[in-house]
Amino acid sequence: MSIICDFDGTITNDDVAVAMLTAFGTGDWVRWYHAYLDGELSLEESLKRQFESVRATKRQLLEFVHTNTTIRPGFAEFVEFCQARGMPLVIASVGLDFYIRAVLKEAGISIPELVCGNARFSGGRLHISYPDLGRDGLAAGIDLKERTVERLREGDRTIAYIGDGFPDFPAARRCDFVFARHNLADKCRENEVGYLPFDDFYDVLDGLERFNAVPGLAQ
Ligand SMILES: [Mg+2]
Repeated sequence: MSIICDFDGTITNDDVAVAMLTAFGTGDWVRWYHAYLDGELSLEESLKRQFESVRATKRQLLEFVHTNTTIRPGFAEFVEFCQARGMPLVIASVGLDFYIRAVLKEAGISIPELVCGNARFSGGRLHISYPDLGRDGLAAGIDLKERTVERLREGDRTIAYIGDGFPDFPAARRCDFVFARHNLADKCRENEVGYLPFDDFYDVLDGLERFNAVPGLAQ
């Protein structure tokens, strides 16, 4: 089994990106989020525009993230669990590399694979890029999270998805098992996609057992 896990609001208790945009975003960045929900922009293009509205230095942003971010209980144990069983764990996030790496490093957690946005700082601005993104802001019509599902499928593996937001849904619905909270849980219910709710990563560990998905784990 492979695991794909969202970052903001899933690994962290609160959504780091939203907090950062609320504190440092300029202009009507919320509009770009709604443009994604309304299908007018791809997920990556929406986030690129939102993050590029931020006016702050890298140092300011890292201080903000340091002060305002906590990790959901059980995540460190969950990473160890996956590593001990050789289960690939990929963090797939439309958030940004610099704060994701900083948060995980501070918590002493090393992640085998991270697929996310890249931020380059220059002239007091952020310049954002996403992997495999075409000039039209689309990559074969699917987003970074869905591409991660497709790639892991090539290895013919069962995939579990862990997430909390609307943007997780297109990828989550392609997976075999879904752990959902918050908006992703609502979206799964609306669309009759089965999921297990979770508050922390101990729930996810229990859930994997309930799914009987991990050889040697179930009684
Ligand atoms: Mg999220």
